[in-house]
Amino acid sequence: MKIAVLAVQGAFIEHEKSLQRLGAETAELRKAEDLEQDFDGLVLPGGESTVQSRLLKELSMFEPLKEKIEEGLPVLATCAGLILLAQNVSNDEKRGFATLPVTVKRNAYGRQLGSFYYEGGIKGIGTYPMEFIRAPYIESVGDDVEILAEVEEKIVGVAYKNQLAFSFHPELTGNDKIHEKFLELIKVSNN
Ligand code: GLN
Repeated sequence: MKIAVLAVQGAFIEHEKSLQRLGAETAELRKAEDLEQDFDGLVLPGGESTVQSRLLKELSMFEPLKEKIEEGLPVLATCAGLILLAQNVSNDEKRGFATLPVTVKRNAYGRQLGSFYYEGGIKGIGTYPMEFIRAPYIESVGDDVEILAEVEEKIVGVAYKNQLAFSFHPELTGNDKIHEKFLELIKVSNN
């Protein structure tokens, strides 16, 4: 199984390591030609969503990737990746792929709580170490969006069709359960 990891900016190497530990092949997406190969899933890493969005457009990767997601390519998005997928961003006019029917708030925890650690439950996974870094949270979800995790009444993890998205950084804790779940979902959808 081959998973493409968006590698224009942000914390992508840690995602690759996690996927490789689980036996998946990884490919970095850095330029439009990298999209010509076949891959079974896509990871949108954390970083800075505005920078990622701008680079994707400059590199002519934005439209082809949006199309692939709309066509059903399985996606795991974390932090800035979640912002890229969100249909609405309550405190920013800019939109990314807008394929996930949720409203997110960027940098939602303010300055004092810019970065924090929390152990919380994720549906279908159990207790999980959550590393938040200038994270967004999800203010509301549209029809058919399944809520997977909440921290103090804020939604921090959702699933919708082919899209799995979290506010925190599952690649930074050495716990591969979320990536494992993602690979399992791909296997099921391929069968
Ligand atoms: N604050 C970043 C943004 O708005 C997200 C932070 C992260 O990915 N760790 O895009």
